[in-house]
Amino acid sequence: MREDLNASELVIYDEIVPARAPWMYDVLAGQTLEIIDLEGNQAVDFLMYVTADDAERYSAQDTIAAQGNIFLRAGSTLLSNEGRPMMVIATTTVEYHDTIGGACSCESNTLRYGHHTKSQHACVDNFLDANARAGRNKRDMVSNINWFMNVPVEADGALGIVDGISAPGLSVTLKALMDVTVVVSNCPQINNPCNGFNPTPVRMVIRA
Ligand SMILES: [Zn+2]
Repeated sequence: MREDLNASELVIYDEIVPARAPWMYDVLAGQTLEIIDLEGNQAVDFLMYVTADDAERYSAQDTIAAQGNIFLRAGSTLLSNEGRPMMVIATTTVEYHDTIGGACSCESNTLRYGHHTKSQHACVDNFLDANARAGRNKRDMVSNINWFMNVPVEADGALGIVDGISAPGLSVTLKALMDVTVVVSNCPQINNPCNGFNPTPVRMVIRA
């Protein structure tokens, strides 16, 4: 261990997720996961499952209902479909994050942006790819979190996907409250501003 590292800040994982790629990793109770938006305005689509039993997983509905707010901010507790706390947002340098905008798919791209987008890579492909390695399938796809994505809600309830509020080097740090398996899609979307029309890499750092 390096002498300048405090034991509580011991880095046990530090990797770059390439633009458009999936990522999956287990984060143990007490560990933190920092997600860094290296180049700015990059949506990071995020699901998580209880490692011991993946029938229990992140629930956007339970999380929103419990905190009485649709945005995720510092201090937000991410709840499971059993109402149990899975992770908490320890710190964030982006004001708020989305959990209602969903994940992009070939089907939604075709509907929104035209049939010529049918062959473009999408977050649902990444989720299915990563989850397949753990024996999960389409039935395990649930509403996700979109870190760094700006989805304002208008007074009439309409949603937008607008230019990001993130910027190069901004980050969010999550503390695991139980052992969780995190599945990420580094969003490949190029038809709306969620990635500034240019998908870029993100960095994942896990500390003990
Ligand atoms: Zn996406």
